[in-house]
Order: sequence, then C-alpha cells, then structure tokens
Amino acid sequence: MQGCCRPFQIERVVPLTISRGQTHCLERLLVEIRHGGITGLGETGHVDTGHHHYTRQAVAAELARLWPQLEPYAPDQWQQCGPLLATLSPPARCGVDLALQDWWGKALGRPLWRLWGLDRQRCGATSVTVGLGSVVAVRQRLRQWFNQVQPSRIKLKLGSPQGLDHDRRLVQATVQELESWPRPVDVQIDANGGWDLNQAMAMAPWLADQGAVLLEQPLPVASNDHEGYAALRPHCPIPLVVDESCWTLQDLIRLAPHVDGVNLKLLKHGGLGQTLLMARVAQQLGLRLMLGCYGDTSLLNGAAAQLLPLVQWPDLDSHLNLRHDPFLGLERIQDVIRPGTAPGLGIQLAKPLQC
Ligand SMILES: [Mg+2]
Repeated sequence: MQGCCRPFQIERVVPLTISRGQTHCLERLLVEIRHGGITGLGETGHVDTGHHHYTRQAVAAELARLWPQLEPYAPDQWQQCGPLLATLSPPARCGVDLALQDWWGKALGRPLWRLWGLDRQRCGATSVTVGLGSVVAVRQRLRQWFNQVQPSRIKLKLGSPQGLDHDRRLVQATVQELESWPRPVDVQIDANGGWDLNQAMAMAPWLADQGAVLLEQPLPVASNDHEGYAALRPHCPIPLVVDESCWTLQDLIRLAPHVDGVNLKLLKHGGLGQTLLMARVAQQLGLRLMLGCYGDTSLLNGAAAQLLPLVQWPDLDSHLNLRHDPFLGLERIQDVIRPGTAPGLGIQLAKPLQC
C-alpha cells in the first residue's frame, strides 16, 4: 500500500472557549491509503488537552516515517501492520487506522457499522456545545444552535477562570433561555477539569437542583484522579463522566469503579479499532458511553458516527460549527446524526482542500 497525508486548515464559525482557553483555527491532516485502485481516507491533526499535546507537524513527521514501512503490506493485513502502528502517538495512529478501516469497508462494499452488525436506527440526538463566555454570549450561542439544529441536548462548558459565581450565572441563564424553547432540552455540564474537589462537591448537587442531567470531567487530570472521583461520587446526584482523564484502556479500568460513564474520542484512543475495543470494555464494566470530538470535520465525525449505535450520549457537533467543512456524507436530521450508508466511513471530499 501507498500512504500519504496532506495538511489543511479549518476555521470555526464561532470560536470555542473552555476552561483551558479559546480555539478558532484548526490544523488538520488528510490521510490517504491507496491500494488496488481503492483510496481509504482518514483525518488527524493537532490535539491539546493540557496533559497531552501533539502538533500537526509532529504527527505528519511520524506518518512520513511510517509510509515506507507499510509499503510491503496490503491494508487488510492487520496483524502484520499492527506492531508498526503500535509505536505511533494516538493522533497519528488514528489517522492511519481510519484510512485503513475506510479502505477495508470500501474493498468489501459495506459501511463499517454494517460490518460490525450495528443497528443504524439506534443513533440518538447529539449534544451541541456552548462555550464559556459572558451571559449575553451564552444566550446568543443557544439561539444560534436553536436556529441551526433545534437541539434537544446542550453541553454547557463551565470551569470559568472567573470562578464558580460566573459558572452559576451561566447555568441559570441557560436554564432560563431554554424555558422559552418549544420542547424540553437536557443540559449537560462539562467543566474540562476546571474545578478542585471542594468546588466540584459544592457544584454537583447545585447543578442537579438546576436540572442538569450529567457532569463531565469536573476534576483536573492526575495519576490518582480516581481518588477524587471516588470522593466526589457520593455527592453527585447526576451521572459522572470522565473525558480528559481517560486516554487508554488502563485509564478506563482505573476510573471505571468511580464514575458512571466515559467520553470516547477517536483522536485520544488512536482510531476506530481501539475506540471500539474501549467501548466494549466500558460496557462490560457497566459504564455508559459518550462519543465526542475536538475540532473535527465530517470525516473524523463520520468515522466516529460508525459507533453511534452503541452510545447513550452522542457528542459529535464540531463539524456543524465549521466555516468550510471539506467533506460530505454524514447524515443529519435536526439534531440526530447517523453514519453514512456508503462503503467504509461513507465520507467523500466535497471540494479541493485549502492546504
Ligand atoms: Mg469533554
């Protein structure tokens, strides 16, 4: 097989601010694997979650070193290629894994969800994200989302550097705004590790009183963060979900006894193969699943969407906030996203890339 990757840049329509800062432009890579007249597509790029930081340049350099080593193999020789992919960083592995999976599905003429025997009708509504900002900005973002997708689930970012009082004002403004909407809306909270244990213990019951239905990653990432979650859980009346704390299968096993769910992301775990494994293990451990994204296009979210039938809390909204999404094929009806029906990932390039 022949592999290559091309850099491209995308822009968010509305910049996203979370507890660690704001992002507007996103540095990505289109990964292509060619063999036997079929091209498999994958996406990767810059990832920064505080404790884990990968630049697009570093990921591209890893892939440039990989391509000559993959040349002797066909894309469906998983066992031979596996050890080569195991040495890569998670985002580099994600890009190659998606292109290999896409090639495999295209070669067999089936979308991946069908090859895995999943029921596409089980995809639930995705949450849409409202970042940190002023009360006015949060209300405005909610109205933009209403006009675009009429969401039934909102993910509100908290952990503001302005402190808990500001966080509380954002929650109250959100609840008040949503009261005027025509159908009920679930409000999930994602603090992106912005609180310490005492703050989280104070906020969790208050958030439940306000009607919030879920609390994601309240505590910062630490090697012993499972102890914080063990202490917090008795004070948290709503499901407690980890995101930044869970990158590996080992993280999942460490945290599972102390939380209710995990936010899975392809770039964190290194592609679809590993994320499917982690989803199955998490289910066996009694956890519920969220499936999330970074500033991903329809290509990466189209790949993640293959897993949506397994997921209680879909969270794949990033492509809905891009100025020029270069890809198409991901289905959306209002706030319900479903994987494409075309073979592989079901996603095609819509127009030439702006490299
Ligand atoms: Mg999160």
